[in-house]
Amino acid sequence: MQDLIDGFRKFQGEAFTQRSDLFKHLATTQTPGTLFVSCSDSRVVPELLTQQEPGDLFVIRNAGNIVPSYGPEPGGVSATVEYAVAVLGVSDIVICGHSDCGAMTAISTCKCLDHLPAVANWLRHAESAKVINAARTHASDAEQLDSLVRENVVAQLANLKTHPSVALALEQGRLSLHGWVYDIESGGIDALDGRNGRFVSLLDNPSTRAHAA
Ligand SMILES: [Zn+2]
Repeated sequence: MQDLIDGFRKFQGEAFTQRSDLFKHLATTQTPGTLFVSCSDSRVVPELLTQQEPGDLFVIRNAGNIVPSYGPEPGGVSATVEYAVAVLGVSDIVICGHSDCGAMTAISTCKCLDHLPAVANWLRHAESAKVINAARTHASDAEQLDSLVRENVVAQLANLKTHPSVALALEQGRLSLHGWVYDIESGGIDALDGRNGRFVSLLDNPSTRAHAA
């Protein structure tokens, strides 16, 4: 805990002071352009890997970068998506999976999760990715996991489209969806190309979007 307090002291003395005008502006307003959905994993830091400042990203983080489909009893993720799209008017949503994901590893290896009932229940929102990936042939366990991480991004994008606010914004052409996979070791990002369903290097294909429109 002392690390955090020392860090906060450093923030007050350096980072906050350097951005005093920005924080003054942000004190009463925010206009983030992007809703960024990533895993809670400590190694995935949205603002760091996209080099964004406070006020730039509206962020949802949870185990497995999951967006439950819209349903009769919407939860916290659904409320946050709705607020980002309908109130803040974000123009882009990124679903960002990552390498070595613990949540996806649990699904990929069919680990018994009886002792983690909340996790097991949560990961049911990735069930379509699980069954699609299980029906494929994989050369190794590592490849199977990498494939599941990608398939889960595709599944969560599909879930996202069931949210009325997202469906409306897409219909009105004021929202773009993006599916990314971040590689922790290389620092690289692959992006889903909605035209062919393949993941390609983001830097080589910066305009890639997760939907064909
Ligand atoms: Zn993860």
